[in-house]
Amino acid sequence: LVPKSGFAQGSKIDQLLFSTLIESKAYIDKGKVADYIPELSKANKNLVGVALVDSLGNLHTKGDTKSKFTMQSISKVIALMLAVEERGEKYVFERMGYYGTDKPFNSFEALEYRHKPLNPMMNAGAIVTTALIKGKDDEAYKKILERVRYITKNEDININEAVYQSEKETGNRNRGMFYLLKNFGLFDAENEESLNNYFRQCSIEVNAEDLAKIGYFFAHNGTRFDGDKTFYNPEISKLIKSIMLTAGMYDYSGEYSSKIGIPSKSGVGGGIMASVPGKIGIGTFNPSLDEQGNSVPGLYIMEKLSKELNLSIF
Ligand code: GLU
Repeated sequence: LVPKSGFAQGSKIDQLLFSTLIESKAYIDKGKVADYIPELSKANKNLVGVALVDSLGNLHTKGDTKSKFTMQSISKVIALMLAVEERGEKYVFERMGYYGTDKPFNSFEALEYRHKPLNPMMNAGAIVTTALIKGKDDEAYKKILERVRYITKNEDININEAVYQSEKETGNRNRGMFYLLKNFGLFDAENEESLNNYFRQCSIEVNAEDLAKIGYFFAHNGTRFDGDKTFYNPEISKLIKSIMLTAGMYDYSGEYSSKIGIPSKSGVGGGIMASVPGKIGIGTFNPSLDEQGNSVPGLYIMEKLSKELNLSIF
């Protein structure tokens, strides 16, 4: 038997994950749990988890990698994949830009002069993306959920109903954007069910292991961690990684590219999903966020792993 070899494998990885996890806990008190949606403020600040799927598809985990949290903005990546599959890149990006931003995730300042969102990772763009996925009522959301379940091979993944209700009740800013975007003729959704699908996708609950598997999937052009190639698509994977690099970490994306250099997407639930092209997937979880909405311990973990494993694409 010839031993398989690949990138970032073996017990050295496990040791690195362990020491990084311990060190990251020093950063818990440097951030705070999101509270703009009441249900999110109930998250336990002390949970920290890191998961890595190595280049052969093997999972390595340390800490609270089974703890569930909502995907939030990370779901925007899956919605983008589906919208581009169904409509093509040209159609989708006639309705939003490829721009980065220095504005927070919920800014719609650019709509005033551009009449379309800056990119699909900010709320405005993501609301359009989801509205472009075909189907009535909650069908677009169901497609997103199914795709997340497929990529992670985790049929237990589901919506957190309380977070969904909370998003819906307090999401007036998103609701305002929805009507403004509709007014610009960017989609033809008839009613708010389309916006509700955006709230629903944000409320899908995953864990750090699921995120590492999603990272691996895009790192390997749509190959699942077990080698399944049902959704193999190098073009879409390339697009998604490039958008994650320019806009995946909110208005911190530019600095993140320089310091860490890995296509990644964070969410205000505390997750970071990272995709090292051709190599590995990483998922981190801790809900203590900085001003920009990124997990502070999560950023520490990503920076450390990027340095130690030489993961920057630059
Ligand atoms: N549900 C959140 C919102 O639209 C998602 C924000 C995020 O994770 O950045 O307000």
